[in-house]
Amino acid sequence: MTAKLIVGLTGGIGSGKSAASDAFESLGIQVIDTDKISHFLTTVNSDCLKIIVDTFGSNVLKKNQLNRTKLREIIFGDDCARKKLEDILHPRIRQKVEEALDEANGIYVIVVVPLLVEKKAYEFINRILVVDCDEKTQIERVRKRNNLNENEVRDILRAQATRQKRLTAADDVIQNSGDMQSLIEQVQFFHKKYLRISSDLNVNQD
Ligand code: ADP
Repeated sequence: MTAKLIVGLTGGIGSGKSAASDAFESLGIQVIDTDKISHFLTTVNSDCLKIIVDTFGSNVLKKNQLNRTKLREIIFGDDCARKKLEDILHPRIRQKVEEALDEANGIYVIVVVPLLVEKKAYEFINRILVVDCDEKTQIERVRKRNNLNENEVRDILRAQATRQKRLTAADDVIQNSGDMQSLIEQVQFFHKKYLRISSDLNVNQD
């Protein structure tokens, strides 16, 4: 893996990880998104999807595609099933992340890992950037985006790390309870900071 600054971007569901990573991308920074890799790995006829069907049964399929809602229902509250799924997905996702990092251009790289704090994975990440937002706003955004009711969103939140736990693990925090403009300004601030840190790293390696 190349010796460049690797920033892990994380946050609860609906906190604004995608919005923040889009803003980093628009500044020309490469974003490696583990959720997108997971979707890519489980496309129709993929080896990974076959293993998931062998493990959980063909009821996780809908028109040959992975029915993510069904799979989420199966693993929700069932630690054994959740672990089985993680054992299938995580090593494969990690391998893809490492390949992408090897090929990555640019001064620093963002790796989006929704459950970074929960799983303590990806030890090569140099800094943790948490996208934070107040719970009321978070619930409202997820309700709208995913067409869920408040209780369904609260169930998902309960399965994730608490806001406090995430903030304790953070090196940097984007406060995303405000509007998009505020989010973009904070991304610009951290972009400059990471460029500075990266150039210090390069000087020290010379
Ligand atoms: P995540 O990737 O963390 O689940 P998203 O980036 O998809 O969260 O954001 C959740 C929803 O909230 C999306 O519909 C997104 O467009 C919206 N959103 C995110 N940040 C803001 C913001 N600062 N102002 C208004 N809407 C936002």
